[in-house]
Amino acid sequence: MTWFKREDGEYHAAAGAPAGTAHEATDAAGKTVRTEGLWIKCLGCHAVIFIPDLEANLNVCPKCQHHFKISARQRIGMLLEPGYELVDTGLRSTDPLNFTDVKPYKQRLLTAQEETGLNDAILSALGQLGPHPVVLCAMEYSFIGGSMGAVVGETIARAVDRARLSRKPLIIVAASGGARMMEGVVSLMQLAKISTALAQLYDARVPYICVLTDPTTGGVTASFAMLGDLNIAEPGALIGFAGPRVIEQTIRQKLPEGFQRSEFLLEKGFLDAVVHRRDLKSYLIRALEFLQTPAVA
Ligand SMILES: [Zn+2]
Repeated sequence: MTWFKREDGEYHAAAGAPAGTAHEATDAAGKTVRTEGLWIKCLGCHAVIFIPDLEANLNVCPKCQHHFKISARQRIGMLLEPGYELVDTGLRSTDPLNFTDVKPYKQRLLTAQEETGLNDAILSALGQLGPHPVVLCAMEYSFIGGSMGAVVGETIARAVDRARLSRKPLIIVAASGGARMMEGVVSLMQLAKISTALAQLYDARVPYICVLTDPTTGGVTASFAMLGDLNIAEPGALIGFAGPRVIEQTIRQKLPEGFQRSEFLLEKGFLDAVVHRRDLKSYLIRALEFLQTPAVA
């Protein structure tokens, strides 16, 4: 069971398993028993939470307000009204480098596609956010760490162009470990492609809001996640470019408490707001109203 794991390594074990999945356990007789996971241990306060309670609370811990990761599908369902349309669902990586590390990248892709039911680490949708028609992209962290390869880059670039041409505001919910190393320079090129498209969107005066969730790091932070007209984050999200250990070794200083978390970045001026998940939709609706009202009537 998820809450029965050791303390060290619990982050990966608990975070990797989506809430509500069946778990396999081995009983005393050595037989494998499948049990429905009904309990999960909170990564924030270590309380054991009944999973249906957690889901009813938007996957936020009712005790300490720790925000659990949610899937791209859940995110879109949470923000858009029913009847939204998913677009650009046919894009797939071609494995341009024919890359193999401990196993072939093609194999990793297949496994991730089977596990998530997605082609890559993103979903792009057109729909209504309250009264506003919007273009919304949500990243999927459980697909190879939400890493950005050619498919994620192209999906976002197309969403930006769609927002510009239809003059609908763009919202991107980021959740990513950064560029996808298995696509090497091809994934790095996505940074320039998306940033160029966003510059055109800015010139066209169409609003863009980025929502940074846990975690948003590497090449995603270094491109579109920090280029919004508003950059807002969920509480306690890890946001940064390089990891803390690399930074400590480079600057030879101990990093302050809470470094690279939403609240710290808000205090230092990197973010515009930290918004609780239950308030996210109403916050976005109000922000879009503000951003789309002309300053002079
Ligand atoms: Zn908690």
